[in-house]
Amino acid sequence: MSETPEKSGHFKVVATVSEHPVAHGEIFMSAIPKSVRFQKGLRNLLMCFGAMCIVVFIPVVHLIAPFFFFCLGIFLFFNSYLDDVQIDHGELVCDKCHSKIAVGKKPDLFPFWVDCPSCNVSMAVKKES
Ligand SMILES: [Zn+2]
Repeated sequence: MSETPEKSGHFKVVATVSEHPVAHGEIFMSAIPKSVRFQKGLRNLLMCFGAMCIVVFIPVVHLIAPFFFFCLGIFLFFNSYLDDVQIDHGELVCDKCHSKIAVGKKPDLFPFWVDCPSCNVSMAVKKES
């Protein structure tokens, strides 16, 4: 991926609710090596293949489910393989209640959504410009 260099690193982020900033913080992102992504994708593919082998023996369900798992497996493989960055760690502080909001390890594209645990507000996290 050509975008990887600018996607990995340390970023200041701002979380907004309908374009109003409500939390600030920073995240650290790193690029995931190709081999790791491939392994992850392969694991997902094999898991779906396993599920496919099981549902084949269930009456009625076997008419559609194996095809579903086949497609899901291929989708998850590419989904994992094309996810080239991950969030190593990140934290935002809510402006309103000052509680810390941890950002999960899940690789994501900006903007992604987090919830303040105290205010129960969903906010969109973006890179601060
Ligand atoms: Zn809050």
